[in-house]
Amino acid sequence: MRHYGIIGNPLGHSWSARLFNERFERKGIEAEYTLHPLTELTKRTLDDLIRMHRLEGFNVTIPYKQTVIPLLDEVDECAARIGAVNVVKVDWTGDDYRLIGYNTDYIGFRESLLPVVRGMGKRRALVLGTGGAARAVAYALSTPWDAEDWTAWKVRMVSRQAGDSPYDRLTYNELTEHIVRQSRFIVNCTPLGMYPETDACPVIPYEGIGCGHILYDCIYNPEETLFLRKGRERGATTLNGKEMLALQARAAWKIWDN
Ligand code: NAP
Repeated sequence: MRHYGIIGNPLGHSWSARLFNERFERKGIEAEYTLHPLTELTKRTLDDLIRMHRLEGFNVTIPYKQTVIPLLDEVDECAARIGAVNVVKVDWTGDDYRLIGYNTDYIGFRESLLPVVRGMGKRRALVLGTGGAARAVAYALSTPWDAEDWTAWKVRMVSRQAGDSPYDRLTYNELTEHIVRQSRFIVNCTPLGMYPETDACPVIPYEGIGCGHILYDCIYNPEETLFLRKGRERGATTLNGKEMLALQARAAWKIWDN
């Protein structure tokens, strides 16, 4: 039996175990995937967990995608550029192991997007948040990709604080209705609206949103967040994070099973 899992806090919203275990059953793979909520992430807590379950790989989610990096032995080039890791391969040799970090969020996001952005004109995007998902999304949007009808986007990140970032950055106070009107693609990469706190949503001028907009929420539980509902009510096309989750998981399995 092979063992995989996910670390993060909280994990009540996560569908990853269901997704992987269903896949293992469907494909006749002798493996199990379990949730490991961690209240703190240290070299020691991670080592205990890996050894106790003899993990061969694990996902990393909120809030550890950046803080896990110093605990790894190697980080793949794209994950290093993004500055966030959501997949770790545990490479065992006897009782020793090496930890190698990857990012598959950007793959899942980018692949999920192709069908909806076909034919879109000016490519200006707002990415809400500056955490692990936001970095992967901004990287995916702004990096050239050899796919039909893919043009790199001009990305602006929106944060609660001013500060440095490799992309243009605004605070929520600086985000005007005019900027929202001009940015036809808005991606929620904050946890606002995620189960169980489904009454929350990012505070942006929704009046600037209309039928030419696409609103994308990385959250997949609930299926329609308040952010998406507000967009839909103003005529926008909306997309939740379900497809991204499935596609990033498929890319993770390719890494673990290699
Ligand atoms: P993270 O690294 O903790 O980053 C979240 C970011 O959201 C923070 O950096 C922060 O940016 C902003 N934020 C946090 N609390 C906020 C608040 N109360 N008000 C406004 N902004 C707030 O988390 P993550 O890993 O990027 O995940 C973010 C969300 O995306 C989660 O809901 C996660 O489940 C989802 N996700 C889904 C998928 C998928 O496959 N569908 C993949 C990855 C993530 P500032 O400090 O700059 O404001």
